[in-house]
Amino acid sequence: MSLISVIVPVYNEEELIEQSYKRITDALLPVVQAGDDYELLFVNDGSHDRSQEIIANFAKTDSHVKLISFSRNFGHQVAVSAGMDHAGGDAVVIIDADMQDPPEVIAEMVVKWREGYDVVYGKRRKRAGESAFKKFTAATYYKILKSFTTVDIPTDTGDFRLISRRVCLAMRSLPEHNRYVRGLASWVGFRQVAVEFDREARMAGETKYPLKKMIKLAMDGIFSFSYVPVRMLLNAGLWLGVLGFLGGICALIWLPYNFPVITFAICMFFTGIILMGMGILGEYITRITDEVRARPLYVVKEKIGFNE
Ligand code: UDP
Ligand code: MG
Repeated sequence: MSLISVIVPVYNEEELIEQSYKRITDALLPVVQAGDDYELLFVNDGSHDRSQEIIANFAKTDSHVKLISFSRNFGHQVAVSAGMDHAGGDAVVIIDADMQDPPEVIAEMVVKWREGYDVVYGKRRKRAGESAFKKFTAATYYKILKSFTTVDIPTDTGDFRLISRRVCLAMRSLPEHNRYVRGLASWVGFRQVAVEFDREARMAGETKYPLKKMIKLAMDGIFSFSYVPVRMLLNAGLWLGVLGFLGGICALIWLPYNFPVITFAICMFFTGIILMGMGILGEYITRITDEVRARPLYVVKEKIGFNE
């Protein structure tokens, strides 16, 4: 008998958490019928609504349910990481609370895991209920990420996936702070396979990923897995240096002519490049600062359903 841990990060999901709980429980029936057991690990990422109370009620009647509550909102990727820290399963599944990732796919993932795969990631065939803007930016972003990194991060995937215990342990041992979970899952390696699914629309409520959080996640993907941005900077510096040298020679030859407007434009251009360069370096430096500070990833306020 194997234990399957299902991690559900939750941030202000009172409108749908009850329905999600029922649907996940139903979807796990084939797992139970096959002789396995499961634990449902909710991570309450500092919700301000009734999510905590509702989940705590599930735990009263259902021994599969466990709850970890953060002292405040630490973010989705940290919530998933906390779930992995507390998961006791032989396989660990990560799924969103809003049912955009259909839990019925979990049984399929378990089958693949039994075939010997260590990471079974959900690959989105279609994305319902998402704006053209989000689809376009996601597609462009994954293209850039792919060309920037040597780690093979599959396109059209989110965090919806099953990982084996050894992958979970390997990922837990990575202490980095600005976590990009799907990247870390690729980084650890092992045999990986996709299971295709149609991404549904959010069951209720609004997205908990406003543009600001989305940009932060996108930046973490690039700056945690690639040095291409600094190399681009170095190349730009070299070429601009050559250009400047040639420009200097031209200026010596045509000294009597004065082009104040062009001079101004050129100054603005190079100032822009320099500031951009400082910004890119800043992205790496703030991440180094986070590592040096070595604060814990999250602070737990309460745990329910754990034996300790
Ligand atoms: N979430 C979280 N902390 C956050 C934001 C989101 O735990 O700060 C959870 C949220 O409750 C959901 C999952 O992460 O279970 C994905 O969020 P959402 O569906 O809003 O993202 P989207 O699908 O719109 O990208
Ligand atoms: Mg969603």
